[in-house]
Amino acid sequence: MAEETVFGKIVSGEIPVEKLVETDRVIAFPDIAPQAPVHILVIPKTTEYADVTELAAADPELLAELVSVAQQLAHEHADGNYRLVFNKGASAGQTVFHVHAHVLAGGLTESSL
Ligand code: 5GP
Repeated sequence: MAEETVFGKIVSGEIPVEKLVETDRVIAFPDIAPQAPVHILVIPKTTEYADVTELAAADPELLAELVSVAQQLAHEHADGNYRLVFNKGASAGQTVFHVHAHVLAGGLTESSL
């Protein structure tokens, strides 16, 4: 079994977060170390998928729901435009191996992320 990640603890409620969106399968909460004026993480509740490649192959509908929630958040917290980042693998900067989308918005510059 995969080792529990910090996001598994957020899903189980062991680590409290401000839930900005919650659906049956997805939650969204602010990144603890924001890299943009709006920096929100969108994650599936399931702990099955370590990264976006695994998620896309196994459950494209769930991946589409992450994108849909990202759009909703961009409307609620910015002008509706957003940058969506998935890091896949340690050498690409992934530190938490529970798939997550970074939603970045609000006064982005070309150089941010
Ligand atoms: P990665 O580097 O894996 O793509 O992104 C992991 C993100 O999770 C980082 O941006 C980091 O700031 C964020 N993060 C790590 N631990 C926590 C936490 O306990 N709470 C929140 N809200 N974000 C976290």
